[in-house]
Parts: sequence; structure tokens; C-alpha cells
Amino acid sequence: MRQFFTHQFYLGKFFLSSVFFLLATVQVWTQEAYEAVVFQNVAVFNGSTNKVLANQHVLIKGNQIAVISATPINVTPKTKVIDGTGKTLIPGLIDVHVHMVFGSLTMRDMMMPDVKPEDLYKKVFVESEKMVLQGFTSVRDVGGPIFDLKKAIDNGVAKGPRIWPSGAMISQTAGHGDLRSPEERSRRFFGPISRAENFGATFIADGRDEVLTAVRENLRFGASQIKLMAGGGTSSAYDPVDVTQYTFDEMRAAVESAEDWGTYVTVHAYTPRAIERAIKAGVKCIEHGQLLDEKTMRLIKKNKVWLSTQNLVSDTPDMDPLRREKRKPVIDGQETLWPLAKKMKVQLAWGTDFLFEPWLNEERNQYLLKLKKWFTPYEILKMATYDNGRLLALSGNRSPYKGKIGVIEVGALADLLLVDGNPLEDIDLIAQPENNFWVIMKDGQLVKNKFAVDGK
Ligand SMILES: [Zn+2]
Repeated sequence: MRQFFTHQFYLGKFFLSSVFFLLATVQVWTQEAYEAVVFQNVAVFNGSTNKVLANQHVLIKGNQIAVISATPINVTPKTKVIDGTGKTLIPGLIDVHVHMVFGSLTMRDMMMPDVKPEDLYKKVFVESEKMVLQGFTSVRDVGGPIFDLKKAIDNGVAKGPRIWPSGAMISQTAGHGDLRSPEERSRRFFGPISRAENFGATFIADGRDEVLTAVRENLRFGASQIKLMAGGGTSSAYDPVDVTQYTFDEMRAAVESAEDWGTYVTVHAYTPRAIERAIKAGVKCIEHGQLLDEKTMRLIKKNKVWLSTQNLVSDTPDMDPLRREKRKPVIDGQETLWPLAKKMKVQLAWGTDFLFEPWLNEERNQYLLKLKKWFTPYEILKMATYDNGRLLALSGNRSPYKGKIGVIEVGALADLLLVDGNPLEDIDLIAQPENNFWVIMKDGQLVKNKFAVDGK
């Protein structure tokens, strides 16, 4: 999370479940009846190999890839046949750093005095559907009130990607996730919990005991990994970017608790000091990292830790001058971070981290293409499918969806995009999902089928 809640919420608690129940009565996602789907004469990029296999036939049964064959597959009358001539089948895209709820709203939305939760959630639904129509079939949500939205999507009430949820982010007092407004005082000394905590955005937890409770509370609600704030942020009012957050023992407590549930802790951290402490405590993934040095990168490599990072831009329409100033070293840092990480062959994952700037959601695909500066089309596609999929798999048994993700192989989950052309030759095809993604399949279901609309 990069940005900060500098103002109080006027909302009170969301009562999300009842909101989704209301919306469920107006939004129902109906499906065409078919037993199986076959993509005929299609080129295949499997997510990990630097080539496209021409003239393949791919059969989907249920939510899995059942057959991949160079010879035509016999079909029953109830099989939906899709002619993939001239098109390429690739795994669904994955964004491993999103905040589904807060990425759909502006600060102004949150602060409106008489705003209704259902109005806010309509916006979240719209952005969530947009995301899957951009070809993003899976995301990792790294902080926010996510469980009800995830449930609504998984139950077919809302459209959207598969979500690997972290739940509320966990922060020390005065840390990057301490989202209190100036007049809100510490719960420990003054009583009531803060609005942002009540809202499910964050846990302010100090000391081993509170950290353990916060981690376990998230796990209880189905968190697939735990997100901790290990250092300062670029736009927050109270925590300078250079500060280190959480003692070794507090961080270790989170790691122990996550590992007991077979999953891992990922941390928000920019500086070498914060990253080194996190790695020593057993953290398995670093979010951001734009201020790290070569020594820290070696530590990441040696410990097989994931580096999950982004391409930030220096300026967006609503950015205040203080934030722009604080962000500058991070923007400069990413220019060396990406090529260094590539050179040292660390486990790299890509995400967007849009927050309170919903207009940026339109640019998700273009943000992926910013990697062209350092990576080949193959490397970019592999990162957004196979590599990001491997990071999702780090959740082990806490992964909410059983089966392989980010690959096209027999037995893998059927999350697929049918691209008009060959994205390994022309990666810019990814930038225009509306025109170029003819089919979007998630969990074996046709989320989009341009053939049905346009013919051809
Ligand atoms: Zn974030």
C-alpha cells in the first residue's frame, strides 16, 4: 500500500455481506450450457516456454484443461467449438499486487458524508468486472476488506478474477498501515479501535501477542498469505520512507504463525535495512524494494525470496506535491531495480498497486508493457503468467483454488485468453484487450466470447 488514509472515514462499518446480498438480487451471471469447450487450430503459448506451438487443439472439461493435441479432437454435440485459426491461446494474466476495494475508489468516494456502502460497492463490482475483461483472471490482494468481494465473485454473484486474499494489512503503531486520522488515538491507551481497523483495512498490532492475533484473525477468514508493513511509505503522513518497522521478534511471530498454517508472510519494504530484517525473520516475499542495493539483492537471491515489484509513475492527476517529492527516489530506484533483478536472476513477480486512483485501472495492461524497457515479450508474458502463478502457489494448502495456475498444460485450471495474433511477436496486442482478446475463459467458463458477438 503506497498511499495513506489522511482523513477519517465517514462511513462506519460497511456490513458488506448484506450489501452483496442486495446486489445479488440484481446481478446474476448466467452461463451458456455446454459440456466442454474445444479450441481448434490454435497456436499455444504455455506460459513458460519461449515459443508458440502452432496448430494445436485444446479441450476444456469442467474447470480444467483436459487434452492438448496436435491432431483434431472428437467432440460431442454439446461441446462448444471455437475456431482459433490465426489466434494464440495464452494463460490468463495475473497481477500479484492489487487492492481490489481501495483500488476501485477515490479518497473523495470514501469521505463523502452521506455515502451509502452499496454505492461504493457498485463501483468495486464495476472495476472487478473490468479487471477480468482486461484478461486478468487471477490476482493477489495485498491489503483491504476483501473477503466478501471474493465470496461474491467465487459464487458467481459478481464478475471478477480469482483472488488470493491477505485480508487486513498488519502494521505497527506509526507504521505504514497505521491509517488513523489525526484525532484518533491509540487503542491501547485510549480505548476505541480506529475506523480503518473496524473497516477491515488494517490491524494496528504491537508486540508478539498482538501480531499473532492479527495474523490468526486473517487466517480465520481465509487469508491465503499475510501482508505486513516492514518499512516506511512514500506518501504517508506519519512514516518517513527510510524507517524500519516491526522488531525482529514481532516479524518472526507473524512468520511462525503463517508457517503453522502452511503459508507465508510478504512485506511492504523499500530499504536494505527493512528487507534484510524481514528476510532474517523468514519472510518469503518483498513488495516494492525500489531502494535496495546489490548486497540486499544477493540476500534475496540466496534465500530464494520473491521480489514482487511494480512500475510506478512519478505523477498522477491527484498527487499532492509532498507525495511526489517522497516518491522520487522510489521512481529513480525502479530504473536500477528491474535490470538488477533480471541480471541476478531473482524470483521476480509483477503487480500494479493502484490505490484510490480508479482511473489507473484502465491502464493495467499498459503498465505491464512498461516492462518492455528491460524485458523481451516472452519474459513479460512469462512473468505475468507462469512466474506470478508460482508466487500464488506459495500459499500451499491455503491457496483458495486447487490446481495449477499461469500455465497451459493438461490438468491445469482453465484460465485462458485467445489473442488475435501472436503476442510473443507483438506484445502490444496485450494493450488492447477489448479488440484483441477474443475469448476470456476463467475456471472453464466463458467470461467473454467475441465470436458470439461479432461473428468472424
Ligand atoms: Zn500496495
